[in-house]
Parts: sequence; structure tokens; C-alpha cells
Amino acid sequence: MDIAIIGGGPAGLTAGIYVGRALMDAKLFEAGILGGQMALSDSIENYPGVDRVPGYELAERMVEQAKGFGLDIAMEEVKEVRPSGGVFHLRTDKGEYSAKAIIVAAGAKPLRLGVEGEDRLIGRGVSYCATCDGPLFKDRAVAVVGGGDSAFKEALYLAKLAKQVYLIHRREGFRAEKIHVERAKATPNIRFLLNSVVEAIHGGDMVEGITVRNLRTGGSLRMELDGIFIYIGRRPSTDFIDIVEKDASGYIRVDENMETSMKGIFAAGDCTSPKWRQIATAVGEAAKAAISAIKFVEDSGGR
Ligand code: NAP
Repeated sequence: MDIAIIGGGPAGLTAGIYVGRALMDAKLFEAGILGGQMALSDSIENYPGVDRVPGYELAERMVEQAKGFGLDIAMEEVKEVRPSGGVFHLRTDKGEYSAKAIIVAAGAKPLRLGVEGEDRLIGRGVSYCATCDGPLFKDRAVAVVGGGDSAFKEALYLAKLAKQVYLIHRREGFRAEKIHVERAKATPNIRFLLNSVVEAIHGGDMVEGITVRNLRTGGSLRMELDGIFIYIGRRPSTDFIDIVEKDASGYIRVDENMETSMKGIFAAGDCTSPKWRQIATAVGEAAKAAISAIKFVEDSGGR
């Protein structure tokens, strides 16, 4: 094929639209859900031209648009990428492929707190996705950990379902946008526990409570609750590719054309930087990556 796109979030799907329109022989590989993190977002209201839309709906529209331009989509996990004989070989969990150029748009995954009880109780009250699991906590008490936009957006969403939401953050200042902070402060069933960290998550089959330590006083408190949603940042999904330069956290380094240190491999979206994480920035980067990849294929005389 001409171009392999790895990842089916907004960046991958945008790249798909561009390479499809350019009549490239292309395939998009997605290991989880099409739309990526965007598909799990309760509502999106900062994507230009679209008023307010559930994430899965915007994802569906992008998938249909890309398919409409002839993009082939494979629900396969890419395990390895190797250069060989002037092309790139991709090994997935289902097969082997070769491509003249690659666009990596594999996104990022949530970080874990690393406290006692967390791993054991995942899916049993420990969650990293309020949109997926929030409805299970209707009229219950839940905690949200973090002080960034993700924690605030999800706390606001959960407050519509849960009886009580505790927002636990390790300091007093927030990284989140002011608008999210103000909305949370004005929400009666969101209570802030600041300068505080979760030390342990308790429960047998399901989460029953947590221990929270106040960093100012040093005192610990055991709280009874039914769920804990963790939003403390993320890690790029780039382990499968070791032939491009990455930073110390694993984010892929790109130049202004979204080209990586390996000629013919381009990258876009959350796997390139932890900083922006916006649908609008992901699609912009992906448009650049796709145009660069198309030019690379055309210039190398492949088609
Ligand atoms: P983030 O901005 O990196 O925030 C992570 C939060 O978790 C920080 O408040 C951090 O505390 C805290 N934290 C990190 N490690 C921790 C630990 N071990 N224990 C306790 N707390 C810990 O991550 P994010 O909220 O996922 O957002 C990432 C990017 O996506 C940001 O650029 C954000 O603006 C963007 N985003 C935007 C929207 C939107 O609607 N516009 C929605 C979601 C995400 P400290 O502050 O003390 O470091």
C-alpha cells in the first residue's frame, strides 16, 4: 500500500480523509475504538463549526467521511514497524503489511496512580473514563483525582449522575481552564479536597472507599465511596515503534512538516506531545502529516 495510518482517533481519521481524497492506496489500523479518546468524551463544544456534540457522534461523522473517500479501516493492533527494502513492514496482531509511508496517530493512554488496590479494582469502581462508566454510579458517591481539564470536565459530567463528587487534587492551583474550574465551583454536589493525595483504594469485589492524605497536615482520612475516576495525565502509545526519535516520555519528535527522524514516517496528535490534546490541534497536525506523506509517496515515484 501507499500509506499506513496507525490510530483511529481524530488525527488518524483526518489523515484518512486527506489520503483518501488523494486517491492513495491506504489503510488505517485501530486496536481499540474508532474515534479514540474523542469517542469517550461526553460532549464537545470547542470544535469549530460544530455546536455541541457527543464525542461518539463526531467520531462517527469522521469515520463515515473518511470511508466515503475510500479509506480502508482494519481493526488490528500494530505490534511493530520496520524499514526494509525501501518500504516499511508492519506486523499486526492479525497479519503483515508493507507501506511506502506511515502516519503514526496512535494517541496516548491514561496514567495510573500506582496505589494499593488500583490495579485489582479496575472495572470494579476504579475507572479512567467517566463517559464509559459514569452511568453505573447514578446517585452514588465518587472521587475524581487530578487538577487538569480532564479531571474537571469529567467531574462536571459525573456531578449530573452521582449524588456526590469529591475532586481530589494534590495542590491548590489548577491546570484546568478557568471556565471548567468556575463551573465546578458552582456545582453544589462537587466538593474539593485540595493538597490531598489518594494513598489506597479499598474494597473486596468492588470499591468501598479510599484513604486520602492531606499533604499540609499529614493526616489521613478514610472515605466511604463507590467509585474513583483517575485523570492524572497520560502516556503516549508509542512502544510499538522504536525506529523514530522520541523524547524522554516517549512522545514522537516531529518537524514542522510532521515528519519524524525516519524519512517516510510522519506523526500527528497526542502521540507527539502531551501539551495540546485538542481535537482541533490533532486534526490540524494530521492534515499536515497527510499532505507531507502524500508528497513523500508521489516524490518517491511510487504511484
Ligand atoms: P494534565 O493537564 O497533565 O493534568 C494532570 C493533573 O493530574 C494535574 O493537575 C497534576 O497535578 C495531577 N497529577 C499528575 N500526577 C499525579 C499523581 N501522581 N498524583 C496526583 N495527581 C497527579 O492532564 P489532563 O487533564 O489529562 O489534560 C492534558 C491536556 O489535555 C491538557 O493540555 C488539557 O488542557 C487538555 N484537555 C483539554 C480539554 C478541554 O476540554 N479543553 C479536556 C481534556 C484535556 P499538578 O497540577 O500538581 O501537576
